[in-house]
Amino acid sequence: MNTQKLPHVVIIGAGFGGMEVARRLAKEPVQITLIDRHNYHLFQPLLYQVAIAGLVPSQIAYPVRTIFRKQKNLTFQMGEVTSINFNAYYVKLEGSIIAYDYLVLAVGGQTNFFGLDSVEQHGFQLKDIESAIGLRNHLLKLFEEASREADAERRRALLTFVIVGGGPTGVETAGALAELISHVMVKDYPEMSLSDARVLLLEAMEHLITAYPDELRKATRNLLEKKNVEVLVNTKLASYNGQRVTLGDGRQIPAHTLVWTAGVRAAEVVDHLGVEQAGGGRVRVESTLQLPQHPEVFVIGDAAYLENGNGKPLPMLSTVALQQGKVTAQNIQRILKGQSPEPFYYKDPGLLATIGRNAAVARIWGISFSGFIAWVIWVFLHIYRLIGFRNRVLVMVNWAWDYIFYENQVRLITKE
Ligand SMILES: Cc1cc2nc3c(=O)[nH]c(=O)nc-3n(C[C@H](O)[C@H](O)[C@H](O)COP(=O)(O)OP(=O)(O)OC[C@H]3O[C@@H](n4cnc5c(N)ncnc54)[C@H](O)[C@@H]3O)c2cc1C
Repeated sequence: MNTQKLPHVVIIGAGFGGMEVARRLAKEPVQITLIDRHNYHLFQPLLYQVAIAGLVPSQIAYPVRTIFRKQKNLTFQMGEVTSINFNAYYVKLEGSIIAYDYLVLAVGGQTNFFGLDSVEQHGFQLKDIESAIGLRNHLLKLFEEASREADAERRRALLTFVIVGGGPTGVETAGALAELISHVMVKDYPEMSLSDARVLLLEAMEHLITAYPDELRKATRNLLEKKNVEVLVNTKLASYNGQRVTLGDGRQIPAHTLVWTAGVRAAEVVDHLGVEQAGGGRVRVESTLQLPQHPEVFVIGDAAYLENGNGKPLPMLSTVALQQGKVTAQNIQRILKGQSPEPFYYKDPGLLATIGRNAAVARIWGISFSGFIAWVIWVFLHIYRLIGFRNRVLVMVNWAWDYIFYENQVRLITKE
């Protein structure tokens, strides 16, 4: 074990879970090393806004060193953790070795293409800033290309946008993209008829947002269709070659854009740790969030597999990661005091997804509702949850401007 005077807590991942552990240990007699491959914390729920030219990346990301500037017991190291030696208590970080007394693995998830290599190669995903900017540039370039395309069929393919995955991210992206076309691009491209443009949302199951109650699934579909999104349920994707989507039943859709939002799995690093993994590669943990046989190691958030009361795995949501971060910090404190760690129970705060301007669906305190009120709650909750006063003000001003003037202000094609 590490011989430092204070117990050394190493946290891998400055996402929702890792940051929560670090903050909650701020006043405790521990030395913390927080590691992330990026130098910023990313608010992933608003990534699609970067992709549809609504926000700039710096409005949804915040430097980790700035966040923890005042936390004296924490140091930050930027780098990629490549391996962990659970028996010798150290992690390997790009050549250097960092010893720990307690380790928190909060490495999150990555896109799961379920072996669809053609989609991975030619499609877009929404997982990090780079992928969101890549998608934004691609979308904006296609409008430019379409504006000078004489062939009607090819123009239609350039303006056909296929979103795969009817979960909240797919729904939000489809709604926002449809509005970008109908509110903004129509003004930017007066020379081109945008009645050709199509946004399709493909879902393999029977319903959109399956985790939501039936009335909200129906409301979501209605709201999307009102915004001219074509919703195709019970529709499986077979392949995509960058120009043509092939469906499971053999149908083909010419489209130069496919956005894959249909799967998430645990971050790749956990595949190399020799630990027991469950669905989506997530690491099986005890109810206390500890790794079996290694009580000094905690795994939380998207990377962890823990079932809730009804035998289903906990969802990969920021609320789960945050609550697990809190319980992990408490359990580390309990162990340091010689007490037993306590099990984790998820307190479901409800469900909320937006479908664009004035439209959202919500289930809070057991009550389902949709439309304007749900949308106002969504707007204020997301502004509240952003890190940094500056970001909150900037996003609020940005959204207010867009709302009043029907604009998406970041319509810039840039180098990535
Ligand atoms: C597009 C999108 C939209 C979403 N919308 C919502 C939503 O509306 N509501 C909601 O509740 N949830 C939403 N989620 C899910 C939510 O973002 C995740 O559940 C949450 O981020 C999980 O938190 P985490 O701490 O486990 O991991 P993350 O927040 O993903 O953080 C993991 C961190 O670990 C770092 N990392 C990974 N591997 C390594 C390594 N080897 N070395 C060093 N660092 C590493 C990463 O850089 C990252 O910073 C969305 C996710 C996406 C992608």
